Amino acid sequence: MNTSVQKGLSFARRMYLPRSIGMGIGFFAVAAALQPSQPPLWVWIAMIAHGYAWPHLAYQLARRSRQPYAGERRNLIYDSLGGGFWAGAMGISPLPTVTVLSMMAMNNIAAGGMRLFVMGSLAQIAGALVAYKLFLPPMFPHVNELQLYACLPMLVIYPMAIGLVCYRVAVQLSKSKKTLEKLSTTDSLTGLMNHGAWKDRLALEFDQCQNQDRQHSVALIDIDHFKTINDTYGHITGDNVLKQLSNALCAGLRQTDLPGRYGGDEFCVILPDTTLAQATEILERLRRTVHDHAHAALPDLTLSLSIGVAAYGPHLTDAGMWLHEADMALYEAKSAGRNRVTSARPSGKACAREGAALG
Ligand code: GH3
Ligand code: MG
Repeated sequence: MNTSVQKGLSFARRMYLPRSIGMGIGFFAVAAALQPSQPPLWVWIAMIAHGYAWPHLAYQLARRSRQPYAGERRNLIYDSLGGGFWAGAMGISPLPTVTVLSMMAMNNIAAGGMRLFVMGSLAQIAGALVAYKLFLPPMFPHVNELQLYACLPMLVIYPMAIGLVCYRVAVQLSKSKKTLEKLSTTDSLTGLMNHGAWKDRLALEFDQCQNQDRQHSVALIDIDHFKTINDTYGHITGDNVLKQLSNALCAGLRQTDLPGRYGGDEFCVILPDTTLAQATEILERLRRTVHDHAHAALPDLTLSLSIGVAAYGPHLTDAGMWLHEADMALYEAKSAGRNRVTSARPSGKACAREGAALG
């Protein structure tokens, strides 16, 4: 089922309850207004059918329509046409007429904004003119007690039903917004922050370091010879390796660290309140754990990582420069033979760390 059909069906489902309630209790307001003029039997039958059968028929029509959304909008116009018809049949019967027309206007605005309100109003006028011609109703400018009580349920219950529907839509929207936000910031393969989200976070953390005198570090992690892993074991195994590494990052780093997937086989992490020496130690531990991990299904597979680390320093003018230092350090780690952690010097020149190269 395509999404526009799904959207239309959920629109029709949403309108079913308020229509059933509105038509059901609107019947009393119309009946109380028409009763003094003793309408013929067919009018009563039409009124009952409109009040109690139409909501279910309308729902089925929209459901079975090839375009349920358009079908439901048509139903709303028919609602207005019908409402206008009964308003016209009532003549000038102030309370019931205003109740029926205004409740319908509220429904149209809630369901389709000003456009549906205008179209609905035109349909109401058309319906009212037809009924007026047909019945030439007498004027009842005074509201009697029966009319007052017959309109009360409509005035009290119907706005509550519309309010409830609007509330449900708002909750649904807020959930969808959160899901979309999560999707747009998450890497689908590993579940880590994606490139864009991580870089946004890096900019925030950089500001913190600058303004609050904090000492964060940042690291770029690249899998060595990942192409060979793909070529030897296939891309599915390659994907699994990426997932395993992301799990190892989550397990081996602290709760406060912020890992992400930079792209391809490259990962990134911000280590808040961590000096260069501490960060290097943490990443060296991670590198060793990953390297020593035995892959049960693939005993020949050994993973090695090259890692570049850079600490924040006052010489850095922006987050890009900070990242560049980590990138340079990673480049040095690769050039020096891979499988090592290299820390950047504030000058931007990386130094291969003592004891980091374990080959
Ligand atoms: P180096 O040691 O210099 O890093 O060599 P390398 O083979 O790892 O080279 P490089 O980092 O340039 O290669 C990254 C490879 O990762 C290339 C690309 O085909 C592969 N890759 C990128 N994204 C994915 C992915 O989502 N899944 C898989 N399986 N492979 C990916
Ligand atoms: Mg690589």
